[in-house]
Amino acid sequence: MEISEPQPQQSKLIELSQLPVNPLIFWGVVTVGLVVAVVLILSATGVVVGANWLLLVPVGAYLLIIGFFISYLSKIYRERNRLMVERIRDEQIKIDEFKKLNQDLENYAKQLFDKDFELTLANKRLQSLEQAKSKFVSVTTHQLRTPLSAIKWTFHMLIGENLGKITAEQRNFLQKGYDSTQRIIMIINDLLNVDYIEADKTDYNFLPINLTELVDGIVFEFTNQVESKKIKLIFVKPSNPLPEVAADPVKIGMMLENLIDNAVKYTPDGGRVTISLSDARINSARSSVEVAIADTGIGILPAEKDKIFHRFFRGSNAIQSKPDGSGLGLFIAQDIVEKHGGEIWFESKAGEGTIFHFTLPIFNAETPPK
Ligand code: ADP
Repeated sequence: MEISEPQPQQSKLIELSQLPVNPLIFWGVVTVGLVVAVVLILSATGVVVGANWLLLVPVGAYLLIIGFFISYLSKIYRERNRLMVERIRDEQIKIDEFKKLNQDLENYAKQLFDKDFELTLANKRLQSLEQAKSKFVSVTTHQLRTPLSAIKWTFHMLIGENLGKITAEQRNFLQKGYDSTQRIIMIINDLLNVDYIEADKTDYNFLPINLTELVDGIVFEFTNQVESKKIKLIFVKPSNPLPEVAADPVKIGMMLENLIDNAVKYTPDGGRVTISLSDARINSARSSVEVAIADTGIGILPAEKDKIFHRFFRGSNAIQSKPDGSGLGLFIAQDIVEKHGGEIWFESKAGEGTIFHFTLPIFNAETPPK
């Protein structure tokens, strides 16, 4: 922003207002001087004598009055100039302040520009670090999964007495080993699932899926785990066949595994986990099938309900009962359900149990999900 300097006319006014001579006094002195000079000249030349002197009095008075009148006007004029000069000075001060402000703003703008540039660079650096980290996690977790699956399989063979008879005590220890390996595999699955989160919806492969069959297969995988905890795992199959849903079977499979694993994990020994499918929403505006996983476990504390789907969040009672866990499962589950166009929610009473619900849209061949 450009700010103008004072005009030459304004400078002239400033000079005028600074003249040291008062015009009133100046005119008074000049008039009196003139009258005295005229009187002296006239008397010296003998032109005016006697009573004629009196004629000079009105002339002198007249000159004096005119002089004072002009002086008075000039004083008003000077006063006006003085006020104008004051105003100009005030404006000049404001102009200077504006100039300073303008300069400051220009400096701030420059600093902001520099900061913006630095932030862009830092952001780029962060992005490449993030990519490196994701790649590292992805590669490491993939590498870990294979040997862990082998260990789990060995435990499974030993417990199933495929490699010879075992005592009750040995079974107990082997079962603990099996459960811990299963736990680590679930954590690794969570980390692998982070890749899915970073994958956008275009990486999803939506297919017409029979949910009853999918759930049945996953429930079967938990047979060992629930047996060791003496938990009843019940799948209430729908009485009538349900329409197919539009889902990516790999992602929905992993998510279901996670929800059932949570239900089993957070339910004390001897409890119950019930999975059911419902067609209650089939004729609603967004036709969908609802899945519910209910348990008789530790429940979710009321104060923590808002944070349950947050990344890395773990309930305080969950940490106490199961110290290992990533706090990623539900965060990923929510992301997967939302990318399917469904919803996920829960009802829970601390100490009594929890029901997780989610919906998946019915497959529609004419408008398949994109
Ligand atoms: P993690 O199980 O590894 O802690 P999740 O993201 O799967 O991570 O779950 C987040 C939190 O939600 C858990 O720590 C627990 O507090 C709570 N939670 C999830 N499922 C259940 C459940 N069935 N019963 C009680 N609490 C649950």
